[in-house]
Amino acid sequence: MSGDAFASPPEQFQRETALVKAIFLDRDGTLNKETGYLHNWTDWRWLPGVPEALALLRRHGYKLVAVTNQSGLARGLYSPEAVTRLHQEANRHLASRKAALDAFYYCPHHPDFTGPCDCRKPKPGMLLRAATEMDLDRARSWMVGDKISDVEAGLAAGCRAVLVRTGYGREAEKCLPAFVHVADDLPAAAAHILRHEAGKNGAGAR
Ligand SMILES: [Mg+2]
Ligand SMILES: [Zn+2]
Repeated sequence: MSGDAFASPPEQFQRETALVKAIFLDRDGTLNKETGYLHNWTDWRWLPGVPEALALLRRHGYKLVAVTNQSGLARGLYSPEAVTRLHQEANRHLASRKAALDAFYYCPHHPDFTGPCDCRKPKPGMLLRAATEMDLDRARSWMVGDKISDVEAGLAAGCRAVLVRTGYGREAEKCLPAFVHVADDLPAAAAHILRHEAGKNGAGAR
């Protein structure tokens, strides 16, 4: 049909420009205190400044997407419903501070119990799935986490990455590639990301 030749380019253009930037966030040790197989809201402790940093990133137009390995599911330590409830509680708390996350993705697998999967970090499966489902621009997106596996998942997905020194970060920092930025915590990571963006937008900046 002759109309198609004229109809398709604008649609394609529209889709490309609709892509949004995102911050992919590890959960334990990045957003909240790492306690090991956390699954009760009563045990959840925000790391200092996290809700405020999330609100700041939101105001700058970033979608916020948690990507968390939850091998406790593969180990039968808690149920998927418990994970969902925990994330709902966390987000209810964040929403009251204008800092709600747009999505939570979790990997329920562990190779020893469920065999290999493509979503357990350092694999980029959760980030790739979120990018497809949420129309995210991976090249303008960042992964922030406290482990090398977080950094690797982010880089494998075509994002930039920041390691935070909270959680396991101080240990992980010792074997981190030199080109990856290290920040003390999520607020410092957010500041780095926004500085980087301002530098790119500013005339004459790097
Ligand atoms: Mg972590
Ligand atoms: Zn998985």
